[in-house]
Amino acid sequence: MKFSRVKRLTSFILICTICLTCGCTRLSFQKTVTPGNSVSGLYFDTAISITAYDDTSLEVLKDTLGRCEDYELIFSRTNENSELYAINHRTGGVIEGDKYTVEVSEDMYNVLNIALKYSKETELAFNPTLGSVIKLWDYHSDNPVVPSEVEIEKALKFTNPYVMDISGELFEETNEHYLSLPMDETIIDLGAIAKGYIADELKDYLQDKGCREAVITLGGNVYCIGCKGGAGYTVGIQKPFDSKGATQMTVNISDSSVVTSGIYERYFETDGKIYHHIIDGSTGYPVDNELASVTVICSDSMKADVLSTALLCMGSEKGLEYAKRDPSIHVIMITRDGEVLDSERNG
Ligand code: AMP
Ligand code: MG
Repeated sequence: MKFSRVKRLTSFILICTICLTCGCTRLSFQKTVTPGNSVSGLYFDTAISITAYDDTSLEVLKDTLGRCEDYELIFSRTNENSELYAINHRTGGVIEGDKYTVEVSEDMYNVLNIALKYSKETELAFNPTLGSVIKLWDYHSDNPVVPSEVEIEKALKFTNPYVMDISGELFEETNEHYLSLPMDETIIDLGAIAKGYIADELKDYLQDKGCREAVITLGGNVYCIGCKGGAGYTVGIQKPFDSKGATQMTVNISDSSVVTSGIYERYFETDGKIYHHIIDGSTGYPVDNELASVTVICSDSMKADVLSTALLCMGSEKGLEYAKRDPSIHVIMITRDGEVLDSERNG
């Protein structure tokens, strides 16, 4: 397990380096920028790296990376020491009748509020309370099994995000934030939003420390700070179901985030059918449409994270319609047949 993690991390960093360095060499009139200091680590089961393209010190990069440990202790659903774990197990708060109330961190408060906003905006394509269903799909197991219909039916009863009460209990003067939940089996899962939030936070932290050019990668989330010597960064979009690092296409960006959700990231196959990790909240089963991946490019990484998941759930037609209404996002979809749909062309 440890060895494969290290192997994964090494190959991931190699791929990122290749993808991110080829961009500026193509345009000869722009200044070639060689990478400066770089750090990497594994948090929330995700390979994370931060590479500066200016003179940002190793110490600043290490501090920035170290913050991932704090975020893991807030947002991880499975880490037994995390804030989210306590919430999902209804510990550390006050229980009155059927209601559990707990003080939450500002980070948790921010993410839950925005998660609720996007639940509404995407008509529950993005749903932060699918934990009871997600728990049934054990992709990490050596022998994963398809859950029974009865189990799924039961779990689906606890997937209403509007049971979360996070409004009206904010005390402005003391800066305390509270969350109330029913004492039932509702489980919050922030796997589709937390990395985007963290990428934005790390970006702000780096910029506060004076960093002007850098790339932060958290698995499928990439944040490119600055313009890398005027040429921008070239980021590869993974070719679905191909070897890790094989690119379907590249995009050139600056001061933006590129986030991909793909059905090939975590899945198992039974009787010729793929069961992947992105769940259709209306059925409790993995989303079953024509899309293999959705990439969202946006200066707001949390938004890109939420929408890459949500638009994948919506499918190409509804997803492109959604993208067309929002000029702050550029969406690239890859179908299971390998066709590329681009909101700036097909939208
Ligand atoms: P992402 O890779 O950003 O698309 O996030 C996928 C992760 O988000 C999964 O591993 C689940 O933890 C969670 N998830 C799966 N389906 C949904 C959904 N429809 N809405 C919100 N979160 C989801
Ligand atoms: Mg996401």
